[in-house]
Amino acid sequence: MSDRKAEITRNLQEVKERINAAAKSVNRDPAEINLIVVTKTFPISDIEILRELGESNFGENRDQEAGPKAELISATWHFQGQIQSNKIKSICQWADVVHSISNEKEILKFGQSPRKHQVFLQVSLDGQEGRGGASPAELSQLADLVNESNNLDLLGLMAVAPLGIEPMKAFADLAQINQGFVGQYPNSKFLSAGMSGDFETAIKYGATHIRVGSSILGSRSPH
Ligand SMILES: *Cc1c(COP(=O)(O)O)cnc(C)c1O
Repeated sequence: MSDRKAEITRNLQEVKERINAAAKSVNRDPAEINLIVVTKTFPISDIEILRELGESNFGENRDQEAGPKAELISATWHFQGQIQSNKIKSICQWADVVHSISNEKEILKFGQSPRKHQVFLQVSLDGQEGRGGASPAELSQLADLVNESNNLDLLGLMAVAPLGIEPMKAFADLAQINQGFVGQYPNSKFLSAGMSGDFETAIKYGATHIRVGSSILGSRSPH
């Protein structure tokens, strides 16, 4: 086994143990937690290793980088970055799941895709748009618009813990927002939250999809 494969195998195993422990600590079934390995900036060879290890959900932030990867590796591909509207058509060609929908314009554009997409609405937890996301007050209007589209399937909400706010506080707020949302949209009960630094906290507050990069693949060089 190559050194790199041994390293990824070990890291992945460790992350899965942490997922299991976090789920069990709040009496959740670890099987409810979907791991998306964030492969942005990492080479195809790493994704091939992850594929051999049984992983099949990969997350990317940049269209130019992700398109060629998705063309070579058959998997479920997730887009989770800030959306530039002139890239949406291209993102539609490779992304199966889009985590970062934040406004009407994006919904209308993704809705024109020739294929179906599963989407999350990104909610901002600090009232600012720094890390993307709609305000909680806008969510039902956006959800209604997604549900009007034949091409879009609304999985639920997504969030990133804001810089400078404790993840525990951020995800407690998110859990509350999500509870109201799922009450209104019971078919959209998934929750995408948690990255390398905070996925255990996110799981404790109900995350069903976690997006983990550096804990598995190592630190990224600046883009
Ligand atoms: C890069 C990124 C991740 C993964 O971050 P890590 O800290 O490497 O786990 C998750 N979500 C989003 C939105 C990202 O941009």
